[in-house]
Amino acid sequence: MSESNLQRLQAAMRRASVPAILISDIANARWVSGFTGSSAVVLVTPDSARLLTDSRYTLQVGEEVKVMPSFSFANPTTQVEFIATHAGEMHIGKLAFEAGSVTYDTWQKWSEKLAGVELYPAPDVIGPLRMVKSAEEIGAIRDACRLADSAFQHVRRMLQPGVTEYDIALELEFYFRRNGAELAFPPIVVSGDRSARPHGHPSEKKLECGDFVTMDFGAKLKGQCSDMTRTVVMGDATDRHREVYDAVLRAQLAAIAALKPGAAAKDVDAAARNLLGEAGLAEYFGHGLGHGLGSVVHDLGRLAPTSTDTIEVGQVWTIEPGVYIPGFGGVRIEDDVVVTPNGVEILNHTPKELLLLPD
Ligand code: ZN
Ligand code: ZN
Repeated sequence: MSESNLQRLQAAMRRASVPAILISDIANARWVSGFTGSSAVVLVTPDSARLLTDSRYTLQVGEEVKVMPSFSFANPTTQVEFIATHAGEMHIGKLAFEAGSVTYDTWQKWSEKLAGVELYPAPDVIGPLRMVKSAEEIGAIRDACRLADSAFQHVRRMLQPGVTEYDIALELEFYFRRNGAELAFPPIVVSGDRSARPHGHPSEKKLECGDFVTMDFGAKLKGQCSDMTRTVVMGDATDRHREVYDAVLRAQLAAIAALKPGAAAKDVDAAARNLLGEAGLAEYFGHGLGHGLGSVVHDLGRLAPTSTDTIEVGQVWTIEPGVYIPGFGGVRIEDDVVVTPNGVEILNHTPKELLLLPD
């Protein structure tokens, strides 16, 4: 039996001398408890833990939360009163809270109502643990990637002049839902000069010959996300289409080759960024190279020039260089990878050669 996330956290708390932590970030709460609802906090000490939610989730926590006892409150009790009661029962005197997920307003309430408890901002004990995925999490991400691959195969035949961006986005959504998945995020489908918008919303625009069409989509299966992007050309590609596409693809392959245990995240980003620089396209690549992927699509970890992350075995990353030229269009190619002892395993299998559609 492998260690649970709760046991991993408690061991890390002992090492970092954290006496107790109040987990309010919902993705962290889910990671440590297994609860998939949208409202809960978790109190953890090195040798005990409790999940606190409200009466909307009483039955759900009974099914989902196996690693710790769970408790739910109902009106007129408030969440902060409930936290105070349980912190008292657990003999918590000093309590670390997650500063990044707490508003000033909430912090004031906690400071006032948690009398006798010293609140202080928690060191980042959960982040580094959560970035290294369990075999079960990686299995779910792999399945979500497989579904994204088959979704692309499914919509490929729709990609022809006259079809709207909106229709393609909707078909991707139907496909995921028909196959028992949720959306990891609303699909992005942008074409022609609209493809120069990295995160554009699909519109009523119809695909036309000469358009780049960029589709960015992902499924959420068993609580884990996939996130992939492909760009195709409608009709015939010009030399400019090919130049830009090839540069982005070379940048993506260079980054994949650079991603290995021990590498600095910013160096992986640089591997792609330098290649685009040599092609004279660096100014059109504004965003980071990639992000961690897991229970949320933009999970912890960044591949970016300013990142301080280090690559470790078991992390899952997206690799998604892009070039966006106003008035012309954009290309992004995105795959998901899991870090292995020797490099990475690519979890998407949709080919990356430039596709001219319809074929
Ligand atoms: Zn994406
Ligand atoms: Zn992404």
